[in-house]
Amino acid sequence: MTHPAAFGIDAGSTTCKVVAVDAAGNLVGSRLEATRPRLEEQAAALLAGLAADLGLASTPPATATGYGRQLVREAARKVTEITCHARGAFRALGHGGTLVDIGGQDAKAIRIDATGRTVDFAMNDKCAAGTGRLLEHTAARLGVAVADLGNRALAAGNEEPISSTCTVFAESEIISLIGRGADLDAIIRGLHRSLVGRIVAMARTVGLTPPLILSGGVALNPGVRAMMQEATGMTVILPPHPQLMGAYGAALLALD
Ligand code: ADP
Repeated sequence: MTHPAAFGIDAGSTTCKVVAVDAAGNLVGSRLEATRPRLEEQAAALLAGLAADLGLASTPPATATGYGRQLVREAARKVTEITCHARGAFRALGHGGTLVDIGGQDAKAIRIDATGRTVDFAMNDKCAAGTGRLLEHTAARLGVAVADLGNRALAAGNEEPISSTCTVFAESEIISLIGRGADLDAIIRGLHRSLVGRIVAMARTVGLTPPLILSGGVALNPGVRAMMQEATGMTVILPPHPQLMGAYGAALLALD
């Protein structure tokens, strides 16, 4: 393995990720865990843990991103997630497009040109119904693992439309659908449709330039991927390790 030269940390609302890159910008190590209330200590432990994994005596230069980035003492630079996801995805894929990052509590659309420059971006951090939180709430309510939701949505024979525009009301709607004996997978499919509708509407505000690139934890959901493709008619592309893209971009910036 080539020597780790820089770290990036993405202190997200749902998960914390750290990534190591070598001097050429290749990803050479990572750690990911659920975000805990004491982010400052968690970030320090994660950085030290990754350094130990890689046999380093100390943490190399680090850049922080994510909603908790200001709490990361070890990082000399703090950079927005827009910049980091764009940088990470452009480097990982080698081309631009419209990048959609869907995390646990926010979602962003970023239009990246052929040189890697961010041309425009939009963000939703006000409404949970357009984020991974909607899926997490439903998974908990239905007793289904978040990682299984997408395949269940795709396997559903039919679809229950979810009309509520808010996570709390969507949950009430789901409870009444269950009470009426609706098929669970059909409810899950309807919920994915509702999330995708919101995300695509946001992405359209920055312009849909092919291909459609997905990053963030929700990119791991095959139901969201398939429905995004269906809703836009565009090919959906994933960088390797989509959930690590913010931290990867941060690590690349720490190399600069
Ligand atoms: P943030 O950076 O905002 O803290 P992430 O980018 O890690 O959040 O995304 C978290 C979301 O990713 C969760 O709300 C969940 O919906 C989704 N997710 C995480 N792991 C998986 C998985 N294995 N399969 C499908 N979805 C996942």
